[in-house]
Amino acid sequence: MNRHYHTVVIGGGCLGAACAFSVQRGLGNKSGKVAIIEKKVLGAGLSSRHSAIVRSANASPMAARMAKMATQYWKNLKPLWGVNIPYEQSGAIWIAENAADSRAESWTALEHMLQQEGIDFAMVSHRDVLELSRQALKTVPDEIYYYEPDVLQLDSPQILNAMQTAAKKTRVDVLEHCDVIDFEHAGQGITALHTSQGKIFAEHVINAAGAWSADLFAGIGLNIPVALEPVYAANFLVSVHDIPEGMPIIADYVNQAYFRRWRGSILHMHQPRSRNAKDIARSFSRTAMNPEGANVIYDALSFNVTQQQLDNYLGKVINRFPKIGKPVYAGGYHSFFDITPDLKFILGPDTEFTNLYHCLGAGQALKYAPIFGEIIADLITEGSVISNAIDIEEFSIGRFSNNDLSRYWQANALTQNGL
Ligand SMILES: Cc1cc2nc3c(=O)[nH]c(=O)nc-3n(C[C@H](O)[C@H](O)[C@H](O)COP(=O)(O)OP(=O)(O)OC[C@H]3O[C@@H](n4cnc5c(N)ncnc54)[C@H](O)[C@@H]3O)c2cc1C
Repeated sequence: MNRHYHTVVIGGGCLGAACAFSVQRGLGNKSGKVAIIEKKVLGAGLSSRHSAIVRSANASPMAARMAKMATQYWKNLKPLWGVNIPYEQSGAIWIAENAADSRAESWTALEHMLQQEGIDFAMVSHRDVLELSRQALKTVPDEIYYYEPDVLQLDSPQILNAMQTAAKKTRVDVLEHCDVIDFEHAGQGITALHTSQGKIFAEHVINAAGAWSADLFAGIGLNIPVALEPVYAANFLVSVHDIPEGMPIIADYVNQAYFRRWRGSILHMHQPRSRNAKDIARSFSRTAMNPEGANVIYDALSFNVTQQQLDNYLGKVINRFPKIGKPVYAGGYHSFFDITPDLKFILGPDTEFTNLYHCLGAGQALKYAPIFGEIIADLITEGSVISNAIDIEEFSIGRFSNNDLSRYWQANALTQNGL
């Protein structure tokens, strides 16, 4: 049976779900229905393999502004999604090298820019850091520290739970186990989607297929530059005496590791995205060599970590949390950053198809889900909730139109603090 929707969202991750809920709310229940089409189940992709940290520090002022707004949405999600989720406002400590060069200057510039955006982000002393971490953290004279008190810790199963409840409350149709295979288009509009469950017609289409986007849209001539950067995530069982509950998130740019406490007594960690131009270029070359494409995310092997990878992480834990001794390994897995060449989102209307909108996260977007949903809904329903405060031009897919991607990662290389 053919189905008709006002808006179809491809991909049931956190970004697709947020877009669907906001568009449906914008339409009300009478003037059209929204569907999420998900080839596995809601939240099956990268949205179930992140660290659930919501922070505002970002090298782009506009991204920082959006993250600040998103933080407020997460704290009171009910008006948007019809459901609230628990959160903990743990704050975050940022650790950087006290280099006597442009790297230190860029941290000072970041502090200044974030403060201008109204984001509380300020340098703190070694003594402050010891106090904030309840003496759990090792500080080193050659390091500098910043503190962002408004950072939230969420929990990924609770986010998935909220997505499922919100889909029911907002009356969005969720078509799971439904794979979008191809598109029909006429002139500058996509008219229908061919799926594993038949043809689906849509007035508006939102691409929230994340890492799968490049493959999905290549058939209709769209170049969506997304590649996968693999990363290990590891969990260690720790004592509450060694790493206290309520410890801030640690964004350690000296050891290249994010640490957070979650689910009882677990210290969770992973490396940040690489900002190195050559690493980004390598991720894009790997995509061309990988016949599985983004489906590698679903491979069972992703749930293994080798001893060598683990030893690397153990070293980072022992280095930063000396009280722990050798921590107890409590499970790990591979995840993947779905990166773009300049590590910025792809957000907003397509430049070729007038009824197509992109909402892709560039490896850092759980935190933005509610605001991205509102932005895309504004574009589709011609609302004005956020449009005065937000300019998404720098995130447009149009920036990649000349096909010379290398200039993006070269321009980006080592310019900022890794945010
Ligand atoms: C280790 C790690 C830690 C992270 N920690 C954080 C963090 O603390 N905070 C933060 O903000 N971000 C974090 N991120 C980033 C975050 O995980 C992602 O930005 C976010 O999950 C992306 O969501 P998404 O909805 O775009 O993608 P996905 O969740 O991958 O959703 C895309 C969906 O599209 C579906 N799909 C694909 N193709 C089709 C098709 N043809 N038909 C139908 N469905 C299709 C897929 O099955 C998938 O479910 C982290 C990332 C990693 C790797």
